[in-house]
Amino acid sequence: MSSSTDLGRPDPDPTVAPTRDGRPVSDRGDTVCVIGAGASGLTAVKNLREAGFGVDCYERETGVGGAWNWRHDRSPVYASTHLISSRPFTQFPDFPMPDDWPDYPHHAQLLSYFERYADHFDLRQHVWFGTEVVRVEPVEGDRWDVTTRSTGGYGPERTSRYAAVVLANGHNWSPKLPRYEGLEQFRGEVMHASSYKDPAQLRGKRVLVVGAGNTGCDIAVEAAQQASRCWHATRRGYWYAPKYVFGRPADQVNDTLLALRVPLRVRQWLYHWTLRLTVGDLTRFGLPRPDHRVYETHPIANSQLVYYVGHGEITPVPDIARFGDRTVELTDGREIDPELVVFATGYLPRFEFLEGKVLGDADGSGRPRLWLNAFAAGHPTMAVVGLVQPDSGIFPISHWQSVLFARLLTLRTARPDRAAAFGRRVAAGVGERYSGKVKDSTRHWFEVGHADYLRALQRALHDLEGK
Ligand SMILES: Cc1cc2nc3c(=O)[nH]c(=O)nc-3n(C[C@H](O)[C@H](O)[C@H](O)COP(=O)(O)OP(=O)(O)OC[C@H]3O[C@@H](n4cnc5c(N)ncnc54)[C@H](O)[C@@H]3O)c2cc1C
Repeated sequence: MSSSTDLGRPDPDPTVAPTRDGRPVSDRGDTVCVIGAGASGLTAVKNLREAGFGVDCYERETGVGGAWNWRHDRSPVYASTHLISSRPFTQFPDFPMPDDWPDYPHHAQLLSYFERYADHFDLRQHVWFGTEVVRVEPVEGDRWDVTTRSTGGYGPERTSRYAAVVLANGHNWSPKLPRYEGLEQFRGEVMHASSYKDPAQLRGKRVLVVGAGNTGCDIAVEAAQQASRCWHATRRGYWYAPKYVFGRPADQVNDTLLALRVPLRVRQWLYHWTLRLTVGDLTRFGLPRPDHRVYETHPIANSQLVYYVGHGEITPVPDIARFGDRTVELTDGREIDPELVVFATGYLPRFEFLEGKVLGDADGSGRPRLWLNAFAAGHPTMAVVGLVQPDSGIFPISHWQSVLFARLLTLRTARPDRAAAFGRRVAAGVGERYSGKVKDSTRHWFEVGHADYLRALQRALHDLEGK
């Protein structure tokens, strides 16, 4: 593929342009399409531009920042959301967050960071805001027809043909809702955490929070301070890690151990030992004993949950058995009477604009089968960026994924032999994991250990460069 600096977007010429179902298709030549202008889409635009590609980025919202722009209708962040991963492990490698920011910045700071990133690298001119992608279809020659329309379905659809496509549409916006007997009859208020924005929604109510992910724990802690009663239902026991260990953000301590190549068993032992020294045996608080070792589920970083359980402001309870009219029966037979149930039960990935089989989702489960969580077999001009759940920040991973993809696209013309070898590696490596043993649930589909994952990415980049 040759490089292009063509930023204009000519109207399709029906006499020369290809058509699709009788409609004209605007041929965008060597231009790459990026879907989404959150952290992952922005870094993809930047890295593709730096490699010399023309880029059209489509963003359904009217601003950058994706999930971190809480005015966006699909943003999952709430008023009190702060980073869970610490600042140095979250920032882009070539654009540090200000030194005087806290270890765990607030979501408003994150949004200002993305706005500055977009301005610094002059990215907005490549973004079509208020435009959603409704279809992405592979066409001959490893090219892609991308159909867009104004967000909300106003105006006509337009189809443009691209040399390559980056899917950076995020995976934290489509709520995963569990099914429970009797839920439809329950007369209390029910919401998914995606609609939770402000502690005022909890004030003075009897609240049941379901789910022990980072969001579930945050909401339970807010309910402990605002609600008249808070129950926290979890299916199993978890390890609740403090955000600070030895005076440092916990992920920084973990990273030092990983850099020193301390074996998993020893890290697990150290972690257990640290917990024993601080909060001690969690079952003392009525919390269930974890049925797995640490690092086998996504880490929950929350210093306050155990504190509020210890103060009697959060009552840990087991899973829900069924809903009654105004009550909830728990699996241990107890009955409680919440007025509000908040399902903090996570999100599922959704690529509603693309046939599942393109991403290797052969069984229709919605789970893409990719190599490096980014590349689909048989589609050398497509990359998914940001489809990871690391034990650190996502942004550096999205950065290096898009650097790798830009390099791959460049080498497709400069060194087709290496690009072909990369394609064979994709086919052989689909489904590889980059974390130790993890629980097999939708919650852990995209779990990666950042050190292992970044090493694998670096190896792929070196192989591509013939180093
Ligand atoms: C409560 C909470 C706390 C978190 N804490 C951390 C943390 O501490 N560290 C961390 O690294 N991550 C954290 N995350 C994960 C967070 O999702 C990522 O930080 C980051 O938002 C991922 O960026 P992204 O660009 O991949 O996806 P998003 O931020 O979701 O951006 C995707 C963009 O694509 C757009 N889009 C989607 N579909 C279309 C379409 N069809 N057409 C056009 N545009 C489309 C969306 O509008 C959006 O702007 C947290 C998430 C939550 C919910």
